[in-house]
Amino acid sequence: MPLPTPAVPPAPRSAARLSGPGRGRLLLLLGLPLALCGCLRPRGEVADRLAIGEVMMRSEFAANLRALAMPGGRVSGTPNAERAEQFVFDRLRAYGFPRVAREPFEMWSWLVHDTRITILGDPPRVLEGAVALGRTESTPPGGLTAEVVDLGEGTDADFETRAEELRGKIVLVRENRATRGHRLRAALERGAVGYLVMMPPDREPTIGNGHRTPQPQPAAVIPHDADLLARLAAGEPIRINMRLETENWLACPCNIVAELPGRGPHADEIVILGAHLDGWHLGEAAMDNGSGAAAILETARALRAIGWQPDRTVRFVWFMGEEHGLLGSKAYVTQHAAELDRIVAMINVDMPGAPRKLLAFGHEELQDLLAATARDLAAYELEHAVIGLTGDWSDHAPFMRQGVPTLALAGELGPGAKHYHLP
Ligand SMILES: [Zn+2]
Repeated sequence: MPLPTPAVPPAPRSAARLSGPGRGRLLLLLGLPLALCGCLRPRGEVADRLAIGEVMMRSEFAANLRALAMPGGRVSGTPNAERAEQFVFDRLRAYGFPRVAREPFEMWSWLVHDTRITILGDPPRVLEGAVALGRTESTPPGGLTAEVVDLGEGTDADFETRAEELRGKIVLVRENRATRGHRLRAALERGAVGYLVMMPPDREPTIGNGHRTPQPQPAAVIPHDADLLARLAAGEPIRINMRLETENWLACPCNIVAELPGRGPHADEIVILGAHLDGWHLGEAAMDNGSGAAAILETARALRAIGWQPDRTVRFVWFMGEEHGLLGSKAYVTQHAAELDRIVAMINVDMPGAPRKLLAFGHEELQDLLAATARDLAAYELEHAVIGLTGDWSDHAPFMRQGVPTLALAGELGPGAKHYHLP
């Protein structure tokens, strides 16, 4: 899950076609496709019982998640990521899906090997825990040294009024709701040579994206540092050295796609259940998003195992490139432009955790469906909400921008959440 980027509002489309029976009782992800697709055989509560029994008795979720949770993560275009793509492909074939596709696309992939940010002085002080931002190229071996300008929250107005001060400087801003990439671009446009984002006191630096394409100006996230801020506020000129060792390369990862074909009068309509398979390299990428990838794999397995024949076609998609800017889902929407009007819903599963909330984006008319689904899945005590068109932090966003009704799960991530996007 990357940091949010500004949304482009789509033209909302009627979601009336989504109404249908929703009777899942136990595993929410089983409930959602059952709720949205209708089915021919087995039907309704029978399908619920069979699917739930299948998951209760024969779940492969944990084993699959263990296989996907690799030290070094699953950064798109790395051997780990290719192993993960192959693993999902092989499991789907083993589960009996007749058509499993690899859909390749090109993207700039990126890894950071070392981030060293040093406040120069006597003695110099290294800011422990700093993390470079995506697509920064390696600095020269000695790093880049420049004076720091503290731009505070780094609003558009800050960049305007202090534009003259930024040339040749390292721009420092606070982590806030504005995106890192937007403010990085604002700094570069005004001649900055480096960029630092400082976290609030209670949060460690998290990895994420910076440049859109490989760029030499170093960008990094640093921990909160009250001493540095006080010295800058007092007007002391401070020079910082940024030394980054990174890797940028043109990668060709594959989205993995499998289908349960619809058999009814609405068979042409497609419901997509998606999750990104890629994940950052600082840990095992188990939570973000091994958990979601394994969850939809188990959903696919169970629905196939019980012989469920949906009315509408259910398509499972494991996206790559999400962490580098939703690149796999953007490529998917481009590659499937001709059938977008047949995609009646896209359900995105990114870090489901313990699901607590059903979210829809922009389509107010989905309120009734969400309410009915939450009622049908009463054991989960789900909240539900339509949250407008600004929720674009994951792979539902490229579909949302095309007007496809999109749903997502928001869950509690427990103690593991503290490891999100961290080393
Ligand atoms: Zn994610």
